[in-house]
Amino acid sequence: MDFISRQEKLSVLLHSRGLDSLVVTSLANIFYLTGFRGSAGVAVAGSSGMSLWVDPRYTVQARAEAAGAEVHEVRAGLLEAAGRWLRKHGPRRIGYDESNLSCRGYENLRRAGGKRPSWSPAAGLVERLRAVKDSCETERIRQACRLTAEVFEEVVPEVRPGIKELDLAAELDYRMKRKGGEGPAFETIVASGRRAALPHARPTAKLLEKGDLVIFDLGVILHGYAADMTRTVYLGCAPARVRKLYQSVREAQERGIATLRPGAPAGSVDQAVRTLLKRRGLDRYFTHSTGHGVGIEIHEAPRLGRGEKARLSAGAVVTVEPGIYLEGAGGIRIEDTVLVGAGGAEILTPVSKGRWILG
Ligand code: ZN
Ligand code: ZN
Repeated sequence: MDFISRQEKLSVLLHSRGLDSLVVTSLANIFYLTGFRGSAGVAVAGSSGMSLWVDPRYTVQARAEAAGAEVHEVRAGLLEAAGRWLRKHGPRRIGYDESNLSCRGYENLRRAGGKRPSWSPAAGLVERLRAVKDSCETERIRQACRLTAEVFEEVVPEVRPGIKELDLAAELDYRMKRKGGEGPAFETIVASGRRAALPHARPTAKLLEKGDLVIFDLGVILHGYAADMTRTVYLGCAPARVRKLYQSVREAQERGIATLRPGAPAGSVDQAVRTLLKRRGLDRYFTHSTGHGVGIEIHEAPRLGRGEKARLSAGAVVTVEPGIYLEGAGGIRIEDTVLVGAGGAEILTPVSKGRWILG
């Protein structure tokens, strides 16, 4: 991974904001900028490169993973240590990430950093860089998506009436790890029957029944990068009413994906999906936004929500995931992870969407 070029891009961004240094407190951002993947750490980015503070559990790991950063070991008080270093090294205009810093952490950092520098909130700078993936990142996401698709293809023949939601979720998670993944990127969703009307249902001991719609939402983490995919299957021979609803969600998703291109406002994707569903009288059952960026985190920039003005860039990786949720009856969602390429969209989770299971 090309950490140096990421750090250089951040330097340019800092300069444009009139900042000398940025205190990086999000672990995802630290991983992006240095390669370090521990569960605790603080970093400072500046024109002279990256400095990273870790506790003794992570010293060896940090020196190996964050080879380009200056690694400092401290037994306690990572933020205070970073603050003391900043006081000593004297940058005058320091940015901090107010979205990833507690009030107490901020106070400790400022106290240790002294009175001389000015402190400015600067959340979202690294996230803005992360929204455009480099080729190494898209390759990792592509692999994570491929593995997710394989796992789903393997488990789907076992889907039948009488099997527990929890057992299917466990089987999906197990296979993710057996195939070399680090584990699920989020709690795997298997939601059947009425439970499929809950967009973020947790799997339960409920048994699948004939006539259930079953939503599977899963994604693996592989080499630090996530995938995200949803498929809905019907247990039995789907009646015309269900087929029609399914077809509407599928077409809405196709419209959304067709809108993905560099320069398109993020909100236009949501608009395309919602317009199709509205035409079918289904828009009021679509209760969440159309999609989100995927990368080191399962939900990151850009957000494909209503009215979002940010423009999509080539190299963005996003989900397109329309769904309809009918309380007391069930739900249908179809989701792919999609790369916005210079020439248009590339679906990274190419699992069939025309699948109906006979119970
Ligand atoms: Zn999902
Ligand atoms: Zn998603």
